[in-house]
Amino acid sequence: MIICGAGHAGVEAALAAARMGASTLLLSGNIDTIAQMSCNPAIGGQAKGQMVREIDALGGEMAINTDVTAIQFRLLNESKGPAVQSPRAQCDKKAYQFRLKHTLELQENLQIFQATVTGLIFESGRVTGAHTNLDIDFFGRSVVITTGTFLRGLMHIGQNKNEGGRLGDFSSKTLSASLIESGIVLNRLKTGTPPRLLGRSIDFTKMQEQRGDLRPTLFAFHDTRDPGDLFHVEHTGEVRAGWTPGTQQVSCWMTHTTTESAQIVRDNLKKSALYGGEIEGIGPRYCPSIEDKFVRFADKPRHLLFLEPEGRSTNEYYVNGLSTSLPFDIQLDLVHSVPGLEHAEILRPAYAVEYDFAQPTQLFPSLESKKVENLFFAGQINGTSGYEEAAAQGLIAGVNAAQKVRGEAPLIIQRHEGYIGVLIDDLVTKGTQEPYRMFTSRAEHRLLFNHGSAEARLLHHAKRYKLLSNNRLNRVEEKVGRIKRWTESLEATRLQGVSFGEILRREGRGAKLPETFTAETAEVREEVIYRIIYKGYIEREYRQVEKLADVEKIRVPPDFDFMSVRGLRRESALKLTQFKPYTLGQASRISGVNPSDISILMVLIEAGRGAENFPSSQ
Ligand SMILES: Cc1cc2nc3c(=O)[nH]c(=O)nc-3n(C[C@H](O)[C@H](O)[C@H](O)COP(=O)(O)OP(=O)(O)OC[C@H]3O[C@@H](n4cnc5c(N)ncnc54)[C@H](O)[C@@H]3O)c2cc1C
Repeated sequence: MIICGAGHAGVEAALAAARMGASTLLLSGNIDTIAQMSCNPAIGGQAKGQMVREIDALGGEMAINTDVTAIQFRLLNESKGPAVQSPRAQCDKKAYQFRLKHTLELQENLQIFQATVTGLIFESGRVTGAHTNLDIDFFGRSVVITTGTFLRGLMHIGQNKNEGGRLGDFSSKTLSASLIESGIVLNRLKTGTPPRLLGRSIDFTKMQEQRGDLRPTLFAFHDTRDPGDLFHVEHTGEVRAGWTPGTQQVSCWMTHTTTESAQIVRDNLKKSALYGGEIEGIGPRYCPSIEDKFVRFADKPRHLLFLEPEGRSTNEYYVNGLSTSLPFDIQLDLVHSVPGLEHAEILRPAYAVEYDFAQPTQLFPSLESKKVENLFFAGQINGTSGYEEAAAQGLIAGVNAAQKVRGEAPLIIQRHEGYIGVLIDDLVTKGTQEPYRMFTSRAEHRLLFNHGSAEARLLHHAKRYKLLSNNRLNRVEEKVGRIKRWTESLEATRLQGVSFGEILRREGRGAKLPETFTAETAEVREEVIYRIIYKGYIEREYRQVEKLADVEKIRVPPDFDFMSVRGLRRESALKLTQFKPYTLGQASRISGVNPSDISILMVLIEAGRGAENFPSSQ
């Protein structure tokens, strides 16, 4: 297998495939930038934090890498319900990269090679390899494209333009042409990033300090992992030294824009690449530039800014909230208009970048191209934004590219099983017109997705696709068993005629529970308490899932001819032919396809082939 690109998607794809035993090659234009955080050095946050725990439950690396290299941890929404609580961590940017590079280097079955892929090699509608800028060709039975923002990347700072996927990096032009030639349609999107400042030029006394949590919420399920996973490349000079995640946290700092900042932006809007018409791609609505903020929220007198350190051994700060594509001299004025930044020095300017993406409706839910067999896509190339979204897709694409090579069924996570399922289903079914970011509100069954339940929710997949070591699998199974037994036992055991379950629901987390239970690990306790307190809601969710399960299970044969179905509306038939849904459930979510169309298809498919799983190449 060949993975093209070593960003957040590429590293998870490579590790997943190699860990499944596939002989894997990871090609990247510059292996010094493996898993580089192009924007802020933070992992997690709403819905994203839960997704990182799901990646961990499926044997991915992002969670443990974050825990070991994080410099600040915060649990978001701590005062709200546990279903929407999300861990977030600020990482040491370089340590994050170095540890992942080292993890890749240690991985059996995985070869890393620095080369830029200039085009793909195709044979009878299949991909069979990749050409590189070094005039070396590589051949493989499947290829995963994870090239992020690099395809025809063009950066903007006011009128200034530079080719590149991000500042200091290259732009990949010929690969776009090769994809287009194979029939894949590419469109343009854009994203932006704020300036980076020199810490010693910042006056932190004018800002509000934001410390990390005293008891950090980690991302990885430490109680089921091998202690050998816990190594930190920079610690004590040893290559694989132990490290206690969450120690030696550093602070972030909060400040805000001023009326002067607003005036500077308004006076210079035309000079911004975004507002001056230089950019054709569509940007992330939920991560607006400072120009967007002052235009769209004109009545808001000021906007919060967060100064986030980029690591322990650097004095560089990221200004969260100040993304812009204004010219450099205006950026300087803007920075200097902020309390505490009056004399700040800019180390790297803010910029916007435009790039090619491939509309993900061109993919099966396995993330394989519908057009070119054995070719998979993951990460920002699919129109998403964010490290977590990229890593989640990378993991699934890596697993499925390996499964495809073996002729075995793909891993498809259902919408009710986790955010990863929602993410991929949304992408391949609806596509996206702007950089797609995960939110809790995108998941109709989010109550089932509390971050502590990821291992239990995804255990059957981890087992079936052999994504965890035997050791870890045993520990997860044992833990899930304990959670189940404690949940049943607390519901059944009574104190003065009232079950502990009822006491918990009545008195909440402060309820006095049996000592044997309080001696359990925090992971088990938390999950049991969640299941008991929210029992009624969780049961209701599962009833809804069951109702929908029938259509989700019915596979649509890959060669199904929708156009010849009598009674199916023409609009539906055309859409279904275009989207090639994998299941009737997916078909029902395509806009323009209505319930009566689904009823017709259900009768036909069940009568023709039965409701069994079709052996599928998808
Ligand atoms: C300027 C900027 C601002 C951003 N702002 C935000 C934000 O505010 N919020 C947010 O959530 N996300 C933001 N992101 C997005 C986030 O960085 C990405 O979503 C994430 O990094 C995508 O991961 P990826 O693995 O798909 O691609 P990337 O991390 O971009 O990695 C791509 C990899 O592919 C390699 N590569 C590219 N082309 C080739 C080739 N032809 N041959 C070999 N190797 C190749 C590159 O060297 C790199 O290693 C921003 C990105 C950029 C560039």
